[in-house]
Formats: sequence, C-alpha cells, structure tokens
Amino acid sequence: MNRCSKVLTQEISTILDLIRHSPDISRINISRQLGISPASTTRIISKLIQNNLVVEADEITAENAGRRATKLIVNNDVMNFAGIEISDIYIAVSIIDFGGNLLYTARIDSSPGESLKGRLTAAENLLSRTHYRFQALGISCIGTIDPERKIIDYCDILGWEKVEAGRIAEKIFNVPIYIDNDVKCDLLGEYFALKGENYNFISLLSFARGVASATMEYNCIQRGFMNVSGEIGHTIIEYSDGRMCSCGMRGCASTVLAEDNIIREAQKTAPDITSLRDIWTAFSNECMWAVRLLDRTSNYIAALARNIICMQNPQCIILRGSLFDEMPGLYDMVLEKYKFFAYYPLKKFENFKLGRLGAESSSFGAAIMAINEYCKANQLIHS
Ligand SMILES: [Zn+2]
Repeated sequence: MNRCSKVLTQEISTILDLIRHSPDISRINISRQLGISPASTTRIISKLIQNNLVVEADEITAENAGRRATKLIVNNDVMNFAGIEISDIYIAVSIIDFGGNLLYTARIDSSPGESLKGRLTAAENLLSRTHYRFQALGISCIGTIDPERKIIDYCDILGWEKVEAGRIAEKIFNVPIYIDNDVKCDLLGEYFALKGENYNFISLLSFARGVASATMEYNCIQRGFMNVSGEIGHTIIEYSDGRMCSCGMRGCASTVLAEDNIIREAQKTAPDITSLRDIWTAFSNECMWAVRLLDRTSNYIAALARNIICMQNPQCIILRGSLFDEMPGLYDMVLEKYKFFAYYPLKKFENFKLGRLGAESSSFGAAIMAINEYCKANQLIHS
C-alpha cells in the first residue's frame, strides 16, 4: 500500500468513528473537528455512501437557516464483526454491527489445559448458534501478543509460547483475523463505550483474573519494545510479601490484587468464602476481616492508580474488572483513598471512570479492534 493509500485509509477509519459517535453529524462538522480539508472530507464521504457504509438524511441547520446540510449516519446493518476473549478459565464471544452495537454475547467455561485450537473451536460453536454472520474477527488473549505477526508470544498462565494464533484461527473461521492482548482490547471496548468523549490520552487499569493496564495516545495503543507495556501486575509493590507470583517473583501487584489471590487471602480467616461476592457480603455485614481486606485492597488499587497517573499523565483513567463488578462499593472506596495518594501537581486529577461493559468488555473490544483493523486494511471501499 503506498503512502497516499495509508493516509486515506486512516482518514476513512477516523471519519467512520466520528460518525458512529456523533449521529447526524454533517460533512462540514467532520471537516472542522478532524482538521481534514472540506474537499477531502467530501471525497471520502462520497465513497462511503457509494459503498453503502454511510447513509444521509437532509435537514435544515439552525445556524444556517435555509441552507441544507446533509447529515450522516453509519449504516449499522451493512456488516457485522465478532470478538472472542480467551481467558484461562472461560471463552467469551460478542457480535457487533457496523455501528458498534452489541447484537450477541455469550460465554462458556474452559479448562486450563485446553489448546488454543480447542478454545477457538468452542468459540466457533457459540458464534454459529446465532444467525449473524461476520466480516472479520478480533481475538483478545491473555499474555504477550504480537498483533502484526498474529502470534501469542508468551502466556505464563496457559503455558503457551510462540503460538501461531492467526494461522490457527484463519483455518477455523475463514475470515480476516486480528489479535491483541486482553487488556488492550478492554481499553478499545471501554473507550468506544464512552461514545463521543474524546480523550487523546486515556489509561485503563484492570483488576480481574490478573492485574494489568493499557494506555492509548491519539488512538494509538502504547506497546513498548516487545508489546509488554502495561504489565503493571508484575510491578513489585510489597517485596516482603511471602506469596509467589506466576512470574516467579514475590510481591507483584497480582499476588495481592488478582481475583483468586483476594479470595485465597479471605479463606485464611473465613474458609467458607468462595467468591468476591461472598467477601462483599461479609464486608457489608461489617466482618472485621473483610473490612481489613478491602481496606488493604483499595489502598493498593489507589496506589497503582497513582503510579499510572504519574507515569502516563492521562486525561482519563478507567478502572474495570471483576473486583469492581462483584464488589460494587469498591470503586468509591478507591476514589476516597486516592485523595490521600494523589501526587500534588496532579491533585486535581479527578477524571476517573468506572468500566461500563462488565464481563463483555474484552470480547466487545476485540470486535471493535476487528472493525478498526478491517477499515484500515482498505477492504471497505471499492472505487
Ligand atoms: Zn509477577
């Protein structure tokens, strides 16, 4: 693809995203908001309309009474996209339309010893239960992922190394495949769910089966040299802590804050506890062990939020994951704690958001990745 085509496809993708998030937007407003010349905007929109990806509706604008400005809407029904989340113990799938609306979602358990091929075949069974077909598929997976080569470089929890996920998935699904790390997909999904709130610098901290972060600058996900950027779960926060992390080190954030580790900590005092919900119930009943555990948990989360804010200086930080979904008051506790943790120059940083998508965020984000990458691959427009 030559340079002009690359610029064009990036503009197409950006324009489509703006129309999705700003229903009824006009060509002139697109041109103004994105800083693309009116001539280029008109040329791209004409192609999008010719290809039935965008439809228009005439309306008289208030600011230019009497002058007609055509308003634009994404054609939701033109095609669908799918996303799969591969975790150690479950597989989740989502199907969305071209406008990013969720059409279908489902999840099943999987065993830690199951191969990637077995997991993808189970996902294919789930997806084929619906009548929706899809144009491309995004896969979100735990571990270090190389999205360009579509390879799972390393996943300690599943014991995978150099797994050619793209090649395996293409054989099963026979559509274009895109793959990325699960928390990077969480960020794509949650950012999309903020519809229209434009942030050039946005971070996400996820507390679920593991602990990790992701940051996006001007719609570009930070990756680092080896795609490991964001592995805050393996930053050491309590070296004196005796528990061993899956990485072989002691005191990683994950040893204190990953879902299973919090439950194990609770079981030391209350052996009957089997879930985060049980811990929240005990906390609500003012059991002292639960009060102490959540005090400690919220302190560590607030400290990690401070670290991310100091390192990345985002405009907005999203907190998400099963810890917040299953323990509904934890988010407010963290915000209260953060007042004490805030670094003075960033003291007024209050732009925290609670994740909106719950357990679907990663498979939804993988489907959003599929839309974005499919658009960028210039497969949408036939001139
Ligand atoms: Zn670790």
